Amino acid sequence: MTTAIHQNTETNPWEAQAARFDFAARKLNLDEGLWRILSQPSREITVHIPVQMDNGHLEVFTGYRVQHSMARGPAKGGLRYSPDVNLDEVRALAAWMTWKCAVVNIPFGGAKGGIICDPKKMSMSELERMTRRYTAELIEFIGPEKDVPAPDVNTNEQVMAWMMDTYSMHMRQTVTAVVTGKPVNIGGSRGRREATGRGVTIVANQAMKKLGMDPAATRVVVQGFGNVGSHAARLMNEVGYKIVGIAEWDGGLYNKNGIDIEDLWEYRERNGTIHGFPGAEKYDSSELLITDCDVLVPAATENVITTHNADKIKAKVIVEGANGPTTAAADDILADKGIFVIPDILANAGGVTTSYFEWVQDRQGYFWKEAVVNEQLKDIMESAFDDVIRYSETHEVNNRIAAYMLAIDRVAYTIRQRGIYA
Ligand code: GLU
Repeated sequence: MTTAIHQNTETNPWEAQAARFDFAARKLNLDEGLWRILSQPSREITVHIPVQMDNGHLEVFTGYRVQHSMARGPAKGGLRYSPDVNLDEVRALAAWMTWKCAVVNIPFGGAKGGIICDPKKMSMSELERMTRRYTAELIEFIGPEKDVPAPDVNTNEQVMAWMMDTYSMHMRQTVTAVVTGKPVNIGGSRGRREATGRGVTIVANQAMKKLGMDPAATRVVVQGFGNVGSHAARLMNEVGYKIVGIAEWDGGLYNKNGIDIEDLWEYRERNGTIHGFPGAEKYDSSELLITDCDVLVPAATENVITTHNADKIKAKVIVEGANGPTTAAADDILADKGIFVIPDILANAGGVTTSYFEWVQDRQGYFWKEAVVNEQLKDIMESAFDDVIRYSETHEVNNRIAAYMLAIDRVAYTIRQRGIYA
């Protein structure tokens, strides 16, 4: 299962990434050699890891770590657990990390990891053994100065704690800076958990200012209520946005007067699900994407906005909390409709930016107050937003291509400066 056999051209994330990269590189007149370098990941590692299951039988899981670029610093990027993981997806996510770190101008390259597994069907101890064995297999490829993993879909602070511990056992000393997104008491950063959702809110606010929209009169639909979507909904609600819809993979909620997000959080805490929440009506998730609203926040996975639904979208603004939620073919439809898209490599960069703060704090051994973290995050996200808008206006391209152009420009500049080691 090395390539995306189940995916057609439109929904193959690596092709989606390549289509935007090629377009932006052409606009930049990128040198052909640099083009060749950046259109392939620099390293792809596949591991087949044996794991003893609770019932005594041995299972073998396939995992990947793709390091797309290390030109601007250690590779950086999350690790996801899902039955849908495949090499083309991990490649695309790794490249997106390179571009994302360059857009917010932090000193990292890009990487991503994934293990093909169904974490919902695994016990905690099975997940722990799988995580530790995966970490051990990658021992010489990761490290604070090499490649720094973080949480992604279906991984969390606990998984990062196991990775940090496994790496530290091999090094015979505690090395907190090997991963980010750790629990706060073992080297995690205050504010990291909410950071991606906070970044989404910051760039949404910037878009409101630019477009002359008032958050208090703005109806938002959030797709996905995981770490990114739930925090984005909560923080946007605090600013005054009206969250009218929440779409989960197995059904959604709608309330035209706005959903009380604090109540919904409490309800989910008590019941383990958002379904059955009395403060909203049950609604079909795919309908929610095309329902009447002002801002749409896809905050789950890839390929949610495609040629099948893009022309029906009514939102004026799309803020991509997820990685790759829009296909390359759908980009053109959204552009024709005049929708203001804040692309993933800008909109969801709040997570990795706060990961950068975590890595810095771990290496300093000095931990910042949450207010300091949030202030620095706001600063970086607002400058990145302005940089992308400037590129879009100067080069007369949409925001996504502008973000790619800005990122490619920065990465290419560094490669030229460093030169090619022969
Ligand atoms: N998985 C997150 C992302 O896609 C965070 C990566 C990180 O913090 O390194 O941006």
